[in-house]
Amino acid sequence: MDISEDSHVLLEQITILSQEFGTSDFVRGGGGNTSVKNETIAWVKPSGTTLSDMTTDTFVALDRQKISGLYQIDTPAEPSQREALVKDVMAEAVISENKARPSVEAPLHDSFDFRFVVHTHPAIVNGMTCAKNGRKICADLFPDSLWIDYIDPGYTLCMVVREKIKDYQKQYSKQPDMVFLENHGVFVAADSAEKIRKLYSNIMSTLKEQYAKAGINTSLKIPPVGDPEKAEKIADQIKRVSGNDKKCFVDYCSQINISQGPLSPDHVVYSKSYPFIGQPTEQATKAFEKEKGYFPAVIKCDDIVFGTGTSEKAAFLALELAKDGALVEQLAEAFGGVQYMTDQAREFIENWEVESYRKTQI
Ligand SMILES: [Zn+2]
Repeated sequence: MDISEDSHVLLEQITILSQEFGTSDFVRGGGGNTSVKNETIAWVKPSGTTLSDMTTDTFVALDRQKISGLYQIDTPAEPSQREALVKDVMAEAVISENKARPSVEAPLHDSFDFRFVVHTHPAIVNGMTCAKNGRKICADLFPDSLWIDYIDPGYTLCMVVREKIKDYQKQYSKQPDMVFLENHGVFVAADSAEKIRKLYSNIMSTLKEQYAKAGINTSLKIPPVGDPEKAEKIADQIKRVSGNDKKCFVDYCSQINISQGPLSPDHVVYSKSYPFIGQPTEQATKAFEKEKGYFPAVIKCDDIVFGTGTSEKAAFLALELAKDGALVEQLAEAFGGVQYMTDQAREFIENWEVESYRKTQI
């Protein structure tokens, strides 16, 4: 594909933005996505990549005309069939030599008229989107923004946000440049990279001011592990009871107030919906597995928190998201306390093929 000089500049700008907003203050693991567009092409972050690792070559170029085909087709009601169809349409829209799979949120990026879109899941923001009074607080603090009640990620989310953007446009004769998603994160859109930075900086400072007013620390205090020998012993025990100690990796940190339920899609994907609390004996973990359908990804035993996974990276990310979740819960106290995802929302993510694809790529 021939890309013009202008496109090169755009790709360079979105790459820099991706790296800037790819830090742990904004996303963890493969979370979040970015895009840049001209009239005919949208370049989006592919599924299975991380924001901080993006280069100008990693972005996948999509024919916007073909993406718009998505808005016309009748999609099956059954979620997995629907997502499969959407995936096919998206694959056909790919025009770059790089045949990577576009992020499932790509059509949503296309729905913004703004040139740049940066979508992230910052704990600072999720302290509000995962809080009982989130919606009201958001309307007070960010009156120009659009708030979206929780909706299953993927195609459904894209279509709902698309409609809401249209409604907003009708009402205010402009598009929203900040879209907050309940129990998920935020979309920020603008015509320049500088404006993206300005909007984000305003979001973060406004929220930090609120946390300060409520006397809530915006970082998590994680003291060093008091007894590393004990931690190693429990880690070995976890590997033993996992049923396959060669395929079980464990990471750990000292006591944090881990989340007791599902906070957002990313938390469910990397840390699973519920932690295991107590001594990880074979009998107890088996009982947990039978009830929840999975071996625990986060285990709290004595004063230590463990992340587990089938690779070193997965164990690390399970623990990272456990820490992020602990911070989100701490922050949500400023806005009426935490609000978990519903069972239906949680189950959708637990069964979501697209997300599991993403996880295997990271
Ligand atoms: Zn997201």
